Amino acid sequence: MKGVVVVGNRQVELRELPKPEPGHGQVLVRAVEVGVCGSDLHGYRAEPSEGPRFVSGHELTGVVEAVGPGVEHLKPGDRVMAYQAWGCGYCEYCASGRSNLCANRRIIGKADRYQKDYSVMPEAVALPVPDELSFDDAVMLSCAGGTAWAGLQKVKPSVNDATVITGLGPVGLMAAFWARAMGSYVIGVEVNPVRIELGKQAGAHVVINPQEEDVVTRVMEITRGEGARVGFEASGNKGAQELLLQATYFEGRVVYAAIAPPGKVIDPRAGKRGDLGLRAIHGTFTYSMGDYYEMVRALLLHDLHPGTLVTHRFSIAEAAEAYRVADSGSCGKVIFQWGA
Ligand SMILES: [Zn+2]
Ligand SMILES: [Zn+2]
Repeated sequence: MKGVVVVGNRQVELRELPKPEPGHGQVLVRAVEVGVCGSDLHGYRAEPSEGPRFVSGHELTGVVEAVGPGVEHLKPGDRVMAYQAWGCGYCEYCASGRSNLCANRRIIGKADRYQKDYSVMPEAVALPVPDELSFDDAVMLSCAGGTAWAGLQKVKPSVNDATVITGLGPVGLMAAFWARAMGSYVIGVEVNPVRIELGKQAGAHVVINPQEEDVVTRVMEITRGEGARVGFEASGNKGAQELLLQATYFEGRVVYAAIAPPGKVIDPRAGKRGDLGLRAIHGTFTYSMGDYYEMVRALLLHDLHPGTLVTHRFSIAEAAEAYRVADSGSCGKVIFQWGA
């Protein structure tokens, strides 16, 4: 079997790997759809680093192929989404279902990840995908959807709020999707024409292109001079960080979901009144396993299907092209796909 290894300098390589066997309490999952993430692109764009390189990717959906001894809940043929952060199972964060915060977590760590034909994992992180949801839907939840969901839980958009989302890559698109479902008026900010259209498809009522009009002026028009009640930063762009302070209500809620550029600290004086006002400023980091079940419940209750945001499909033999497209930004979600 094969796996995709990000080398750096915008190069990837295919690595021949032994097919793994599930150990005690583990399941072997045959990949069906695996996403390429913005965080995979950090290594892709970077200088090649010293030391071992691991198979990349952390957005796996697939089918259980085999189970090891002691597995009690899953059986071959079950459709699953592999949760991306396996915790130690013992610490305070794991005890509360938030193994994404565990200091000893795996996958987002030093080990082979998921852009490969088969993966083994603890049964506890192979989460069930209901029949009503497609693999496209599930792969959208696996990282971008979860990150958007968990971030929005910090700022709780509702019918009473306008939500400004800066950056409409997969996380921003999923933030638009969820914020619309939660009843908010959704304002996207994006320059890429492909992503402007995807933003409207995802749920944005309007998408403002900052190269064509002044974002703060337009947001103030929409909100009758008050500013948006909610801001969601999904671009990693320096200007967007402060833009959200200028475009939000002085008592608004803002969450920074994108990885910030190095060396930049938000200037509190960027707020309209020269200070942060009474804004609640939040950070967020991926999502918990409990969030997965909440997202699935929301999709099933409202018959929602974020899988329409998958725009490009490649085999892993086409990994160089898949990464090139993802790096271009002219796309929604880019995935590797195997036969279902
Ligand atoms: Zn990801
Ligand atoms: Zn832990």
